Amino acid sequence: MTADRPNVYAGADLDRAGHRRLDGAWLSARLRDPSTRLVPVWGGRVLVTEGESPRVVTADIGALEALGLSGEAAVLLGTREGGQNGAREAVAYFAVDLADLGDGVQPTIEGARFEDLRAVGPLLPAPEASLLAYARGILHWRRQHRYCGSCGAPTRLESAGHLLRCSGEACGIAHHPRTDPAVIMLVHDGAGRCVLARNLRHPPGMHSVLAGFVEPGESLEEAVAREVREEVGLDVSDVRYRSSQPWPFPGSLMLGFRARAAPGEIRVDESELRMARWFTREELLRSPGDETFRLPRPDSIARRLVEEWLAEG
Ligand SMILES: [Zn+2]
Repeated sequence: MTADRPNVYAGADLDRAGHRRLDGAWLSARLRDPSTRLVPVWGGRVLVTEGESPRVVTADIGALEALGLSGEAAVLLGTREGGQNGAREAVAYFAVDLADLGDGVQPTIEGARFEDLRAVGPLLPAPEASLLAYARGILHWRRQHRYCGSCGAPTRLESAGHLLRCSGEACGIAHHPRTDPAVIMLVHDGAGRCVLARNLRHPPGMHSVLAGFVEPGESLEEAVAREVREEVGLDVSDVRYRSSQPWPFPGSLMLGFRARAAPGEIRVDESELRMARWFTREELLRSPGDETFRLPRPDSIARRLVEEWLAEG
């Protein structure tokens, strides 16, 4: 079985409109079109409504001028059908980084607040959480690549914000948006037990599955086997893909797997983990969910991997 529903931060209902990124006439028309929507980000924070059930807040294109920002700095996210006022053209969405204003002051917008996406993501409808993850992720990449990593010259936006070109005459390298693949895996013994661990960086009581970044020259299956061996000293086989999750904090793609461990002793890598051990389904189903023992947060693929396994018991 693989994913039959998207994880949180996936599931956008946006057409990314890649073929429009080099269409200068279309882009300038959209940047003048009053139906176009801006998705503002400030300091990595996203704009949502006040209150307990937040929704995304977008601005119209007039806000760009009012703020003194140039349309050239806006990143085309894509288009969405169903424009207001009977608009024939699909509505275009652009991400704008209000930190470009350069004054270091968080803008105030009535009825809205800038929030950490990690706090509001699970509360938003899936397409909105995904839209904000996309906007936050690409603007973070852009901010981290203002200078060429090869020659140090400033970079310039191209392709409606999806490419940064080095301005160095002898260099001119194209820098593409970066996504870091990470594997995350539920390790089980095929007999009703799975491995959960307490990472040194986890909040109190949180027990989760194992995870780690994919290294150069490594397949996903090899990364799963290496990480499990490094972290808990077990050999795995039967590595099966389950689902994936964009994790824009700041730029990961989590690739979820299940793997079966060969019999052996758990040997904890203490440089990364506080503890790791086998848990039965009964133990996890009885777990208190508090600071003595809790599972990962509900919007995470880690939680989903555990819950899917629990449901099979
Ligand atoms: Zn360069």
